[in-house]
Amino acid sequence: MKRSILRRSIFLSISGTVIIVLAAVMILVTAVLYRYFSSVQQSGMKMETELIAKAVEDEGISFIERLEEENYRITYIRSDGSVLYDSAGETDAMQNHLDREEVRQAMKEGYGESYRYSDTLLERRNYSAKKLPDGSIIRLSSGHLTLLSLILTMMPYAAAIGLSSLLMSLLLASRLSVSIMRPLNGLNLDHPEDNQAYEELQPLLERIGSQQKQLKQAEQMRREFTANVSHELKTPLHSISGYAELLRNGLVKSEDAAMFYDRIYSEAQRMIVLVEDIIRLSHLDEGAADLLWENVDLYELAEKNLDILRGEAEAAHISMELSGEHVKLYGCAQLISSIIYNLCDNAIKYNKEAGCVRIWVERAGTDALLSVSDTGIGIPREEHDRIFERFYRVDKSRSKAVGGTGLGLSIVKHAAMLHQARIEIESQPGRGTKISVLFPQKKKE
Ligand code: ADP
Repeated sequence: MKRSILRRSIFLSISGTVIIVLAAVMILVTAVLYRYFSSVQQSGMKMETELIAKAVEDEGISFIERLEEENYRITYIRSDGSVLYDSAGETDAMQNHLDREEVRQAMKEGYGESYRYSDTLLERRNYSAKKLPDGSIIRLSSGHLTLLSLILTMMPYAAAIGLSSLLMSLLLASRLSVSIMRPLNGLNLDHPEDNQAYEELQPLLERIGSQQKQLKQAEQMRREFTANVSHELKTPLHSISGYAELLRNGLVKSEDAAMFYDRIYSEAQRMIVLVEDIIRLSHLDEGAADLLWENVDLYELAEKNLDILRGEAEAAHISMELSGEHVKLYGCAQLISSIIYNLCDNAIKYNKEAGCVRIWVERAGTDALLSVSDTGIGIPREEHDRIFERFYRVDKSRSKAVGGTGLGLSIVKHAAMLHQARIEIESQPGRGTKISVLFPQKKKE
């Protein structure tokens, strides 16, 4: 059986409070009563001492010898400290009593009081002494419980109360935990925000609700993505299969055969690029946790990617220039490279004949800025957000003609997100596009 943590913690807090309060009240009440009764007893003894002293003064020692006193021990002491009479008749009576505090005080001031503890601290004796006009002393003493012994006496009762309060707390804890859990067990987690449980639960329910929404959205996105991927792969596969069938059945003239082989090759190449992009994006979807994060030089990464793209740019008669400064930032070189590569690749692909691509790297406040601008066809205002969606193209046939997959900017967006980078876009149809990425410069030394 699983132990109920809720019940246990309720039980611990109730019983802990009860026991602490009980102990505090017990100690306080005992101490106050003890002081009160001690002072009552002390003043009673003082009165008794004074009465006996007066009687001895009038009648002499015979008064105390006749007295049958049970509550007090009476000692009659000469002015030199020797004992004339002791009702207990103990050996103590043989000793000189002048060094006793109450006797000394009575000698000096006429009346004296003191008390002494036994070795175990469990018993205490109170003394009171009165000086007679002839210098002799009457001393009374009585036994008295100490605070410690009083507390020990009360222990069994306190333990009984403590035990019954523990049982009560146990009972209360199980009832409370059941009544706290009842509304929780009745929660409808399929519609978390519709529940009328505790106010304290509202933030949790809202979080569950928004998480469910996110999961549903993610699920929807994945489904759309899978459908799109299948569709995107089907088209080149159909072309390849069609060309191959014509060739196999000898329906292609020998002078055209080379062109068909060429088409098969380029469709296969498109598929390879597409599959590579899909793999890259799925990897990003999974968090890309295996990639290396380090301090990277944004300018150097731009140089490297420009070298890779130089052939493509020259073939399209596009000039490329890189300027700015070396800026370091803490990031993942592989992801930042894919950002630079995709932005520059688009700037070449969607450019005009003899156009130009400019890459700029600089420190902008606390950010590291990378911007790629081109003199190309531009993007209409209303498409600025959509182009970052998976497989979205402004002009599908142009994208296909230049070998686009529709995934480049989704990869850019995802990689930027992992760096908490912002993307800004400025573009005018017919004039060109500028896309900037601002990386927060969290440098790890
Ligand atoms: P693609 O593989 O089709 O280039 P992207 O995700 O990289 O896919 O881009 C999505 C769409 O955004 C492109 O199809 C194109 O229509 C548009 N686009 C991206 N970059 C530019 C640019 N520099 N100039 C004009 N249009 C662009």
